[in-house]
Amino acid sequence: MTDQTITSISRETRVVRPSAEFKAQANLGSEASYKRLYAESVNTPEKFWGRQAREHLTWRRPFKKVLKWKLPHAKWFESGRLNVAENCLDRHLTSGRANKAAIIFEGEPGDVRTLTYRQLHGEVCRMANALAGLGLAKGDRAAIYMPMVPEAAIAMLACARLGVVHTVIFGGFSSEAIKDRVNDCKARVIITADGGWRRGKIIELKSSVDRAVTATPSVEHVVVLKRTGQEVAMAEGRDLWWHDLVAARSDSHKAQAFGSEHPLFILYTSGSTGKPKGVLHTSAGYLLGATITMKYVFDLKEDDVFFCTADVGWVTGHSYVVYGPLSSGATVFMYEGAPNHPEPDRLWELIDRHHATILYTAPTAIRTFMRWGDAYVNRHRLDSLRLLGTVGEPINPEAWMWYYTVVGKKRCPIVDTWWQTETGAIMVTPLPGITPLKPGSCTRPFFGVVPRVLDEAGNDVPRGSGGRLFLAKPWPSMLRTLWGDDERFRMQYWSELPGYYFAGDGARFDEDGYLWVVGRIDDVLNVSGHRIGTAEVESAIVSHPSVAEAAVVGRLDDLKGQALVCFVTLKNGVAATAELKETIREHVAREIGSLARPDDVRFAAGLPKTRSGKIMRRILKEIAAGGAVKGDTTTLEDFNVVAALQAEE
Ligand code: ATP
Ligand code: MG
Repeated sequence: MTDQTITSISRETRVVRPSAEFKAQANLGSEASYKRLYAESVNTPEKFWGRQAREHLTWRRPFKKVLKWKLPHAKWFESGRLNVAENCLDRHLTSGRANKAAIIFEGEPGDVRTLTYRQLHGEVCRMANALAGLGLAKGDRAAIYMPMVPEAAIAMLACARLGVVHTVIFGGFSSEAIKDRVNDCKARVIITADGGWRRGKIIELKSSVDRAVTATPSVEHVVVLKRTGQEVAMAEGRDLWWHDLVAARSDSHKAQAFGSEHPLFILYTSGSTGKPKGVLHTSAGYLLGATITMKYVFDLKEDDVFFCTADVGWVTGHSYVVYGPLSSGATVFMYEGAPNHPEPDRLWELIDRHHATILYTAPTAIRTFMRWGDAYVNRHRLDSLRLLGTVGEPINPEAWMWYYTVVGKKRCPIVDTWWQTETGAIMVTPLPGITPLKPGSCTRPFFGVVPRVLDEAGNDVPRGSGGRLFLAKPWPSMLRTLWGDDERFRMQYWSELPGYYFAGDGARFDEDGYLWVVGRIDDVLNVSGHRIGTAEVESAIVSHPSVAEAAVVGRLDDLKGQALVCFVTLKNGVAATAELKETIREHVAREIGSLARPDDVRFAAGLPKTRSGKIMRRILKEIAAGGAVKGDTTTLEDFNVVAALQAEE
């Protein structure tokens, strides 16, 4: 057995305490209530989750048993029945929210639409009636390949209303990716649009679907929303315009109730580490996770305008653009396009125009905004903002401080939320107003979550050193399986240490019990007998004022085990010189110790990323080793980046 301990080299010590003002209004306003609820949630989870499920969800038939747990298969609230779409829509019509904005939308060209809960309910019912008219029923699968427009949410909710399992495929993916996913789950329908707007150009969606459906025998119909208006091919009988399909349909629909464990959606993970996996989420437990985190992690208030920048193609878009906010009766702001169109201040302009109060985005976006410069942020007031969030990767402390100071004006707490497609909802996170924040740490577990950092024998590694991150208890929004592949599900998540969910990440607890994710286990570096997480080294590199972004990988080395190869993107206007390479190496050694001094610094115009902006280190590993890029690259954002890196060899 290999030693799974990870040496921590970070020296981050800053602490940002919650303000009295925020604390006074927070939904969970004291450390004592966090401690009490957390203790209850892990000591008597069935009591805790049973109460939460009764309080936060509307049931058609109450559940009797909270959890049946036969590792690795969990059944939550099994005998209960509910309809997820009804929870997201109908129940708000009778609770005074009928005329409240559910979705405020701005398209990239500047078109603005607001849908109240009543209007959204009507549109979802019309689409549900239309899909039922096509013969879709409970348990069928539908693929959704849409731009970020309200109809994406309408399509998802219409499926949920019918018990049809949706799989949303990110609108930037190729026809190849559509084909694989549609064939894996045998979708009967694909719901798409002619195109969407991105940086002033049309992203063709229908034509990608056309290329995919030549090889997807399960697909009977393609439903097409007219968004961009360019000419598209429509296959007679198979392809149907959205507007024609819903035209004569009623805007009321009597929803059926489904069992708690009825499948809600399949979501194929982004693939930063390999072949996409069809993560399956079911109804009640998932919805509870998404709803309760809205309340406590985002401190949701009736008049909040919640802006999550994630595309609906990612789990963050499922849980925090659609299901979590709408189940909570919140107002969601949705934006279609690029953050730098027409100029790099679009996001800040949107926040001011629509009075967004909560912003939830990713470290990769934050680093990009930093690179574009403070001036774009400072053009706008941003005084509507009260809370900031981040998800997707470890955030380097410099980016955290920038987000806190320049965007949040030191007024808004930051919730650094660790979770995964598989976990369905936020798992480790500060609670705003309560948790003292440490830049770069996702801090403490949410209710019911028991994170453990373990060595190869299953023992907790001492505080301060790192190891593999596991979750020790089942939770309501956990994935139920990988679609059609129970065996891979068991192998991937439940076989590393019997009884524990294996997250695939490396992490450490610090002396205060705060959790720090140090990178993916697959990416851990091995230098002179020490295992080091990528995040700490990258964070040290990025803290150099000339550096915009960095990724570090290991290359086999006879002496050290692995040599550290750093790929570095410089800030605009900085010259790529040999001296700067040396300066960066010294900077890292000074910041975190000579053990982590990079052996090789390579300047790169861009880094290979997934479509959700995560760095794909496995590709950089292949490049650093001097070999060809062999693994799956279908989820890569831009292959040109890889070609450019290889050309520099
Ligand atoms: P795949 O599993 O196919 O490789 P992926 O892991 O990138 O794709 P997601 O489920 O979107 O797909 O991402 C979850 C991962 O993102 C986590 O396992 C972790 O590595 C990282 N992550 C998410 N949020 C945070 C955070 N707040 N801090 C540190 N890491 C985070
Ligand atoms: Mg993952």
